Amino acid sequence: MHHANEMRAPVEIYGSNVFNDSVMRQTLPKEIYKSLRQTIEEGLPLDPQVAEVVASAMKDWAINKGATHFTHWFQPLTGITAEKHDSFISPTTDGRMIMEFSGKELIKGEPDASSFPSGGLRATFEARGYTAWDCTSPAFYKDGSLYIPTAFASYTGEALDKKTPLLRSMDALNCQALRVLRILGNKTTKRVTTTVGPEQEYFLIDKKLFEEREDLILTGRTLFGAKPPKGQELEDHYFGQIKDRVAAFMSELDTELWKLGVAAKTKHNEVAPAQHELAPIFTTTNIATDHNQLTMETMRKVALRHGLVCLLHEKPFAGINGSGKHNNWSMSTNDGQNLLEPGKTPHDNIQFLVFLSAIIKGVDEYADLLRASAASPGNDHRLGANEAPPAIISVFLGEQLTDILNQIEAGGATKSKSGGIMTLGTSSLPSLPKDSTDRNRTSPFAFTGNKFEFRMVGSSQSIAQANYSLNSIVAESLCQFADRLEKASNVQKEISAIILEVIKKHKRVIFNGNNYSEEWVAEAKKRGLPNIQNTVDAIAAIRAEKNLKLMEKHGVLSHVEMESRCEIQYEIYIKTVNIEALTMVEMSKRQIVPAVIAYKADLAASIGGVLAIEGNADVEKALFVQISDSLKSFNANLTKLEKALKTAGTLHGDVKAQAVAYRDQVFKTMGELRKDADMLETMIDAEFWPMPTYSQLLFKV
Ligand code: ADP
Ligand code: MG
Repeated sequence: MHHANEMRAPVEIYGSNVFNDSVMRQTLPKEIYKSLRQTIEEGLPLDPQVAEVVASAMKDWAINKGATHFTHWFQPLTGITAEKHDSFISPTTDGRMIMEFSGKELIKGEPDASSFPSGGLRATFEARGYTAWDCTSPAFYKDGSLYIPTAFASYTGEALDKKTPLLRSMDALNCQALRVLRILGNKTTKRVTTTVGPEQEYFLIDKKLFEEREDLILTGRTLFGAKPPKGQELEDHYFGQIKDRVAAFMSELDTELWKLGVAAKTKHNEVAPAQHELAPIFTTTNIATDHNQLTMETMRKVALRHGLVCLLHEKPFAGINGSGKHNNWSMSTNDGQNLLEPGKTPHDNIQFLVFLSAIIKGVDEYADLLRASAASPGNDHRLGANEAPPAIISVFLGEQLTDILNQIEAGGATKSKSGGIMTLGTSSLPSLPKDSTDRNRTSPFAFTGNKFEFRMVGSSQSIAQANYSLNSIVAESLCQFADRLEKASNVQKEISAIILEVIKKHKRVIFNGNNYSEEWVAEAKKRGLPNIQNTVDAIAAIRAEKNLKLMEKHGVLSHVEMESRCEIQYEIYIKTVNIEALTMVEMSKRQIVPAVIAYKADLAASIGGVLAIEGNADVEKALFVQISDSLKSFNANLTKLEKALKTAGTLHGDVKAQAVAYRDQVFKTMGELRKDADMLETMIDAEFWPMPTYSQLLFKV
């Protein structure tokens, strides 16, 4: 498809559909612009009169782009985005219409929210939902509408979305980080924000083949499929040459994303065949989260224009790598400092080590919360399986940094009386290597020079939960540090004591080795690190007492909000596995069993002929028996699966018990059923097999 403006230069295209700062500056009166900037930067309340002017400018700008509608764009707990479009039209008394958009409409929306998951919140408070403009993420134009990023809450103020806690957690971290910075002597920084650059993995397959697979259509992953003769063993796909068709897709994707102000930067082939990755340039967490949602949505849409389907599921194909998101995270100040940049001066070192300690402490104390933030039925196929990050959370620091911490620990232990690690502040840290050869690609939480890379998040998940969890746990560490430091008579001494304490108490979470090895699993157990194997177990952390306290203390999520989220995650697990199992049953009965029976009949008929001519038909008979046996086993497992579904379905009262039943009965039997089917696939005439194979899906783009 040809789009006229695709011939424009990237600098012209970039942000062309975004109501960004430069557009605001151009279209808003100076005073209004200044007031809005203050709201955006300092979180000051928005003046309704300002909103009125901004709304009008936005409307004119959007209409000029071709918009007839506006929508409050929000991120309910389903993990995807939601939108309801209203037109700008307003009839006049003389029968004409004008295009209107008020400040009120900009600030607040009232979508009919009754069908979004609320985990019982709405039942408890009997309130409808409303959306509120999030002016920290810019509005944009897309497909005939003005999109306004919003937060979604109940009328009594409970968050019903992923964005509200994210914004609250950014405030919490800002507040605690500023306290620490002030104690360290920083008098100028006004705001600390968290920054994120999420690397997004995805698969591309041919649309025609996709449409022949019920499982891909309904569940996003293959529920059956024998291992192909060739997989990823040759490692010939990673960073390999990009095929023309894929390159055309990537190029159009870049253009579409640039228009939306998404700074798509890097693109390459990934490890598995048909797998690719896109990484944007990092930005504020809030915007990065919105942009990642837009990226996923745009990937899906652009793929279709190229006769392709983009699979964002964490594990579309068994036996080859799945997809994740690498959530690159850091903290930076409004005056341009990256707080995770190891410093060149002794003073910077101290600052770096304080923030590093806060993270190490937080990750160790709240590993379960981070694990829960990456828990989803799709991600269960990755975490804990023999690929990208294990389910055990550990921190990779690299040799050099670990060595520094070891030295601090040793020094502090031996010379504590004579001031000991006070020397910490007298020499500067060497700048740490950032080149990728030094990196440990197996670590779930790796320091990569000036940021941490949280690698557990699933490819289809919103990054919001991972980031509000991360922000909150670091805010808590910083809060504890600040509490101590504000009371300390000798700040330098207290800082040293804090750093030393963190190293001693939390070094168990630091691991620089191979996270995929069996030795690590055993070692981690010895160290007492949690190894939470699946979503159902991981979700429990959300309502653990210590985690409820943490979120409540920092105003990120209240007890009821946490409880409701936990409930919703169980529900999502149950529904997902239920749909997958039902799809398997349907494909089994309507496709696989009939195909096997047809082939058996064909084979049986030929056995008579072979026998008449050759005097025996041993080969044909042996194959027949093998197929027959597999079919019997398949059928038995099919019956078992239907029974398991029925039993699990009756357990509504208690979501947790029901989720356990889905995991231990339904999901387990799905695996058994698949084994038989994949076996049958290897024995049956290709002409008879009712769906495209892995070889076709993975190598035919
Ligand atoms: P890789 O991990 O694949 O080697 P890069 O080093 O290029 O990749 O970085 C990956 C991502 O990390 C990019 O999205 C980049 O913008 C992001 N990133 C870099 N610096 C920061 C930072 N200070 N905060 C958050 N993300 C960052
Ligand atoms: Mg990376």
